[in-house]
Parts: sequence; structure tokens; C-alpha cells
Amino acid sequence: MKTLPKTDAVIIGGGWTGLLMAKELSARTPISVVVLERGAPRHKEDYIGGMDELDYNVRFRLMQDYGLQTVTLRYTTKDKAIPVRQLGSFMPGQGTGGAGEHWGAVWPRFQPDVFNLLTSTTQRYGAKKLPEGHSVVDWGVTWEEIEPYYVKADKLVGAGGKAGNLRGKVVDGGNIFEGARSEEYPLPPTKTPYFGSLFKDAALKLGYHPYPNPAAILSQNYTNPDGISRQACFYCGFCDRFGCMVGAKSQPTNTLLPIVEKAKSVTLRHGCWVRRIVYDKSSGRATGVSYIDANGEETIQPADLVILGSWTLNNTRLLLLSGIGEPYDPNTGKGVVGRNLTHQISFTAAQAFFDKPLNRFMGAAPAGTRMSDFDGDAFDHSNLPFIRGGTFAGMGTGFQPIVGFGAVPSSVKTRWGSEWKKAAVYWYDRVGTVSFAGEHVAYRDHYFDLDPTYKDHLGDPLIRMTIDWNENEREVVKFAIAKGVEIAKAMGAKEIVPSAPYGHYDTRRYQSTHVQGGTIMGKSPEHSVVNTFGQHWQASNLFVMGASQFANNGSANPTPSVIAFTYRTADAVIDRYLKHPGKLA
Ligand SMILES: Cc1cc2nc3c(=O)[nH]c(=O)nc-3n(C[C@H](O)[C@H](O)[C@H](O)COP(=O)(O)OP(=O)(O)OC[C@H]3O[C@@H](n4cnc5c(N)ncnc54)[C@H](O)[C@@H]3O)c2cc1C
Repeated sequence: MKTLPKTDAVIIGGGWTGLLMAKELSARTPISVVVLERGAPRHKEDYIGGMDELDYNVRFRLMQDYGLQTVTLRYTTKDKAIPVRQLGSFMPGQGTGGAGEHWGAVWPRFQPDVFNLLTSTTQRYGAKKLPEGHSVVDWGVTWEEIEPYYVKADKLVGAGGKAGNLRGKVVDGGNIFEGARSEEYPLPPTKTPYFGSLFKDAALKLGYHPYPNPAAILSQNYTNPDGISRQACFYCGFCDRFGCMVGAKSQPTNTLLPIVEKAKSVTLRHGCWVRRIVYDKSSGRATGVSYIDANGEETIQPADLVILGSWTLNNTRLLLLSGIGEPYDPNTGKGVVGRNLTHQISFTAAQAFFDKPLNRFMGAAPAGTRMSDFDGDAFDHSNLPFIRGGTFAGMGTGFQPIVGFGAVPSSVKTRWGSEWKKAAVYWYDRVGTVSFAGEHVAYRDHYFDLDPTYKDHLGDPLIRMTIDWNENEREVVKFAIAKGVEIAKAMGAKEIVPSAPYGHYDTRRYQSTHVQGGTIMGKSPEHSVVNTFGQHWQASNLFVMGASQFANNGSANPTPSVIAFTYRTADAVIDRYLKHPGKLA
């Protein structure tokens, strides 16, 4: 084992959170920073000519290698968990940029009441309305505290969209249900593909309030406040699961890495697999990290400040492996590390088949139309058998020839042979999806812990997920399917295939990589792992970033919030902690 010279700060993970923190520390402080990323180095130039669907979207070139480390899963605490052998319901990233390289760049904010869900739901409906067995808590932050950081996040990525609530004034054509924005989006919305325009017309006809889907893909050439210039999207349609070949989709490699690589105070090391945060329980301090380096050598990197940005599952696993904080026990409700595992409800509410081409081979993952009329508490739930809801969208994602091929309506009776082939070719560009992104509330018996049986390639226990859908989610999904069909009809679809209702959580169907919880934030160490600045309650020089901080899932995709909270942590570390090390809250 080798021990390296001490660094001021070590960051675990080189994704959105890790590289953003490295950028902020290098730009605003003189301290030395080491970033440890277990995957390979990557640069924006690597994606030129990279529209290889087989490589990226079938063989999952940018994703975590489940052969080295996977997860185990069970529905209840009574079941034995088994390992998930193939990437399925979520697709963690690996290598510079993490999942931020192959993400879809849909850019919505959370609703303000996501941060105080317990209080707001109880006030409006009474405590009995919350689902049985829930563990919904307030986060301890307010919309007013976080909104300025959303603005910074918007400017970082060059977000495009249209405000629907500007400083409290409702603006037609934007999302009128959103929390008050202090500023308009830096850029106008992306172009609306044909399918998105059909969705918009249908939503208006039905009396809803559609708006252009917010995007972290540039609608115009843009230079951000860090001086990073990127070019506008040309709608090739290869976004989600791909790196962008022109750099229009904001990714850590084209937005943060150019700055981080130039910073003399930052050392970025690849192939470095962190196994433990070294923790001195008696002093309550993290003293560094231990990892296997690119040559396979066990290495200790001592550091004064440890920053964890390895995504939800790895953040939680590393805290559990390192023995920092009390693991959560669903039987007693005691302990905190691992609690409040949630996974955004995300599915196709209805497939809509048209008698005309939709040109869906052109597009961008977030380009299209969304509506929030059934999001959060935008509608009254008094007489409904569930709380919360979600958003519907019609997007021109860019239909790729392999994965996008093969959908046929129910009127096509065969699923093989020449008749099916002919039908699949005919319907290829005549089908679109009314998609739904919904909220998943937290439950007492949905959590992460270390699997007692299965280990990774280094012999460390895998993370075990205990999760399933409950009545609340099944009711939300039923509701969403009915609305999805209504919208598809109003769009003029000739045939509609509604989604099947939710049964058990399905590891095989891609849902979204929006898994949250495990190291949640809060106002007190009894109920949370970190304070609202991401600082660990038991180790004041350890900060945890990313969606593992989120005590419940908002319907919105998490990355704008992940980046906003990382900016807030950066301010707390730089403006307060480094000046007066110690507890911030
Ligand atoms: C297909 C896909 C589509 C998505 N689309 C959207 C979207 O449209 N909108 C949205 O808001 N969000 C989207 N997301 C989610 C988004 O990508 C994540 O929220 C974001 O990337 C999280 O950033 P992060 O830094 O927390 O984690 P990551 O980006 O996952 O980065 C974590 C890094 O840590 C490294 N790491 C992990 N463990 C270790 C270890 N032990 N040692 C060293 N390094 C380690 C990993 O290799 C990885 O590079 C999508 C994700 C996927 C996969």
C-alpha cells in the first residue's frame, strides 16, 4: 500500500457534481484538489462521428460495467435480494463526466413544495392523506434559498425554455405552475418538432397549459459566465445515451472539463476506484480516501476535506462501507444512512400511431412540449386515491433506427415474419409517445443497505436496494395512462396503445436514472445524513453531493436541482467552511 502526499481536498467522482465542485474550488480558492474518477478519461472531441447506435445505445459504451459492480434488489425486507445482471431500470455512468455525458438534458426544476412535502401535504389534506408507511420529511430548505442557485445552473448549461412565472407574474406560454423564477431562461426554447407541436395543439384543445420543454441543449450559440462557448444544436437526434458530437448538449466534458484541466491546482486521476473514505471516529473527521489506482495498487490519499460526488448508489455505498453514520434500520426506524430510496416514475403513458410521417429521426432528447397541469399539487387530490402526480410530454427525441424500430399498433396481429416486418417499416416514423414523469414518495421500508451475500470484483459488499411500487404509485400510473390516452386521441392518433398498469418494480425496463435518497439532507442528525449544505453531521470535513441528498423524488428530472445544490454546497465550503472549519448548521 502506498500513501501519497496530503492534498487540501479530494473529490470522489468526475461527473457533474465532482467536476463542478473542482471548477468552483479552483476558480475561487488556492487550495489543492485531487479528483478521483474510476472510469476512463474522456474529452468532448471523443464524440465526433459518434452516432454509433450499436456501440452507445445497445452495448452501452458509456455506462457502468455491471460485470465489476452491480446492485442487488428485492421488493420487501422479507425477500432475499438477487443481483441485477444487466443494465435495466437505470444506467449509471462511468468515466469523465459520469452519466452527465449520456444524459438526455431535459431541464426542469422541482416544484417548490417538493422541499416541504410533509408540511404542505399535511396542511392541505391532513396527515391521513399521506400513503401508509410513508417516510416523507421536509428537506429543511426553502424555494427562496435554492432559486438563485437554479439561476446559476441555468447559466452554466445555457438552458433554453420559456418562464411561466417570472418573479410571481404568470406568463402565458410558459409553465404557469412552476415556482417563481427570478430570471428568464438564458436562451429561448429549442425548436419544436412536429410531434411536439401536435402535443401542444392537443393540450391547448383540452384546456391544459403546455409549454416548451426546458432543455440543457443549446437553442443558439452560447457563451456561459465561465467563458465556455458552445454551438447550437442541429437536431441530429443522438442525445440520450450518447455524447454530443457538436457540444450542443451540455456535458461535464464540454462545460466544466476545459476549465478544470487548465487549473494548476487540480489533479484529475482516472482508473482510481475508491473503496473507503478513511474516517477517524474519535475526532469525527475524514482523513482521506483509500483506493485502487490505475495500476491496481492500493493507495491512500490523505486530505483535509473530502467531497463525495459518486452518484446516489455509490455515495450511499461508500458511506456504509466506510462506517460513517448509523445505517438505517427499517424495523426500528433508527439510523439514517440508506433511508428514503426513491425512483422517479417514468414511463410511456400511451403510444400514439398516426397515418402520416412524423419525421422523428430529427430532434433532440428534450425538444418538444410538456404540461404540468397534473404535477405535484397543481390539481386537487381531495377525492383522488393518491397524492402528487407528474408531467406529460410529447418530445421529438430522435428516433434511432435500432432501438426505435419495431413498434406496431394492436391492429397488427403478428409479432414476427414478413407481415410484421412490413408493418414495422410502415409504422417506424408514424409512432410517438405521450410520456409521463411522476413523483415517487418515500416509504419507511424502501432503503439501501449492504448486501450480506453478494460482493463486487474487489470483494466489497454490493449495495442492496429494497424497493417496490405501492398503491399510491399504482394509482398515479392508472391516472396517467387515462390522461395519456386522452391526449393521444386529441392529437389525432389513429391507433393508441395504452401502457400496462404498474405491477412490481421492474429492473428490466428502463425507467430513468433518477434514483434518489440514501444520504438525505435535513435539519437534524436524527433524521438525515447531511445538513442542507451537504455537510455530514458526523464528519464536518466531509461533504456529500448529488441526488442522494434528496429526501423524496420530485416528478422533475433531477440534474438542475443536483447542480443547484452543488453550487450551494460550493458557496458554503468556500465562503464559510474554509474560513472557519467546523459545523455549518
Ligand atoms: C440515460 C440517462 C439519461 C438522463 N437524462 C437526464 C435528463 O434528461 N435530465 C436530468 O435532469 N437528468 C438526467 N439524467 C441524470 C443525470 O445524468 C444525473 O443526475 C447526473 O449525471 C448526476 O451527476 P453526479 O455527479 O451526481 O453523478 P454521475 O454523473 O453518475 O457521476 C458520478 C461519477 O462518479 C464515479 N464513481 C462512482 N463510484 C466511484 C468510486 N468508487 N471511485 C471513483 N469514482 C467513482 C462514476 O464513474 C461517475 O463518473 C440521465 C441519466 C442517464 C443515465
